[in-house]
Amino acid sequence: MLIRIKGTTSNCYLLLGERPVLVDTGAPGDLKRILSALQANGVEPKQLALILLTHGHSDHAGCAAELKRRSGAQIALHAGDAALARSGQNGVLAAQDMIGRIVRPFVDEQFEAFGPDLLFRDGFSLEPHGVKGRVLATPGHTFGSASVVLGSGEAIIGDVLRGSMVWPNRASPHFFCNDPETNTRSIVRLAREGLLRCHPGNFGSFPGSELHRFRATASGEVLELSGEPV
Ligand SMILES: [Zn+2]
Repeated sequence: MLIRIKGTTSNCYLLLGERPVLVDTGAPGDLKRILSALQANGVEPKQLALILLTHGHSDHAGCAAELKRRSGAQIALHAGDAALARSGQNGVLAAQDMIGRIVRPFVDEQFEAFGPDLLFRDGFSLEPHGVKGRVLATPGHTFGSASVVLGSGEAIIGDVLRGSMVWPNRASPHFFCNDPETNTRSIVRLAREGLLRCHPGNFGSFPGSELHRFRATASGEVLELSGEPV
């Protein structure tokens, strides 16, 4: 089961498998919200099998250091974002639209630095941590962005795309993306999974079919779905 925990600006997700796994840790001020959500779902911090971060931005890694202290759980992060975690800074935040340029000064906050315990590159299975699913590298938003594909057909996709601020069940490009072409390849990779539902880092979830809408706006090279993964 997947539980959405709404932070001040972003979503975290609690996965309730044989053991609980927390995906993302909100912004630096979101600790109380996360602890309350854990309690409401009968999960003590010390029961967490793993803290997985979809990437190293402050609104996803903001409470990682404190939650690690309270839970003793290891923090998994793609190696491409390890430097962000160790510095407690967002690094490059390339705005993709006017909203991104407007909100950038407000979201570009520092967070408590930490050393990730499990650094991965291609991905890994969550089954040893008690959850039926696997982590995939989905770079573009940052070098080390990753997504979680669950056995249920749902996926947590971090900031590969965001939900719409207005419409339910609708995806939009994220306000920030450091490498849009690579991000589009990541959308293609996720689209191949035949996902039922995607849960983004910002705003509401949307059906997996939304991924195909973004594929259609990409270049022909990225649209090619046969052969080796792009
Ligand atoms: Zn981000």
